[in-house]
Parts: sequence; C-alpha cells; structure tokens
Amino acid sequence: MTGRCHCGNIAIRFDASVDPRALPLRACDCTFCRRHGARTTADPAGRVRIEIRDPGEISRYRWGLATADFLVCRRCGVYAAAVLSEGARSWATVNTLIFDDQSPFQREAVSVSYEGESAGDRIERRKRSWTPTELG
Ligand SMILES: [Zn+2]
Repeated sequence: MTGRCHCGNIAIRFDASVDPRALPLRACDCTFCRRHGARTTADPAGRVRIEIRDPGEISRYRWGLATADFLVCRRCGVYAAAVLSEGARSWATVNTLIFDDQSPFQREAVSVSYEGESAGDRIERRKRSWTPTELG
C-alpha cells in the first residue's frame, strides 16, 4: 500500500504481511490522536518505508512521555505516522487516512487507550506491535 500527506512531502510505502483488510484498525483515545481523528494500523511482520522529501518541512512532534516522533507535515498539516527509533532501528504506526486506497479501512476502528503506561512499557509495546520501519 502507498500513502502520502496532502502535499506529498511525506510518502509511505506499507508492505503488510496479511491482506490489508485483516490489519488492525485503531482509534487511540490520546489527546493527539483524538484531535486528528487518526485511525492507525501496524503490522509487526510487515515493513514500512517513510520517505521525506524536505525534512525541514516536517514536524517531529513529541509530547507526553516523549517516546515517539509524531510526523506531521508542516506544509499541509497532515499527521502521517508515529515513529519510535532506537539506534538504527525504527518502528511505526501509520495513520490509515493517508493511504491512497481507503477500501481496506471502511470499517469501525477499535478504540484503544494506553493511558497509565510507563515509558518503558510503552516502548516495549510499540516494538512488539508497530511495524519495522526504514526512514528515507
Ligand atoms: Zn504535506
């Protein structure tokens, strides 16, 4: 699957290990996701590649426990993905609203809440459940 922010500064390629219709679809109740209306997905057995054309036009927004970068395009305002990086490795959860093909995501998102997690628990959960990611 391919996706991009509105202006194309952030382009994402998502190779899922399963049919995209079987991917999880999550509506996180955190104060950031709620405000964006984000519906996210991830596949620990898949792969994501995130290409950023102009890194100066990206906001890597960090908040709360500051354990991930929320990639928002500064030019067009679209929230594309959240990325956890550790050394040379990264994992991402992608906002499905940026995918060109919306047909696999015409379904109700599962409401999730991660409030109360420690920073360590949060990082471990993301490594387990987010998609291994290459940043370009
Ligand atoms: Zn953009």
